Amino acid sequence: MTRKPVIEVRRSKRRRRTVSAYRDGERVVVLIPAQFSRAEEREWVDRMLERLAAREQRARRTDTELTARAHRLAARYLPDHPAASRPTSVRWVQNQNGRWGSCTPADGTIRISHRVQEMPDWVIDYVLLHELSHLVIPSHSSAFWALVARYPKSERARGYLEGVSAAAGLGITE
Ligand SMILES: [Zn+2]
Repeated sequence: MTRKPVIEVRRSKRRRRTVSAYRDGERVVVLIPAQFSRAEEREWVDRMLERLAAREQRARRTDTELTARAHRLAARYLPDHPAASRPTSVRWVQNQNGRWGSCTPADGTIRISHRVQEMPDWVIDYVLLHELSHLVIPSHSSAFWALVARYPKSERARGYLEGVSAAAGLGITE
């Protein structure tokens, strides 16, 4: 969750129809044409805040961010398996339709389906921790699920993924 930003609206006589927005520290500056009405101003500020949030979310969800996230999760939930749970690469992939994520314990690589990319952060964390745990224990044994259960939202995330899979008729399982 992000805090509601402080918004500064700047009216410009040089602008005719173009609106832009950018983040400046804690503030978001929205530039609008000087002749906009109050109603247009409100409408455009809302729209630009949504666009800015979407842009920032896309930027956050790169392979680099995903890898950093995986390393943070491994350090937090699997500190007693430091060697096994540190992946060599973590990537978003488009070609994985039957699974949310997969890993190759032999080379320490993890791939996460692009379908997970738009899901909430806590679900992404579960999918990552599931694959990180497979680097330690490849099978779905009880020891494996005990590692996964260290993440407090595991059960909730599994329910979320089952719901998405069922609703979309994807037939995706773990
Ligand atoms: Zn699995």
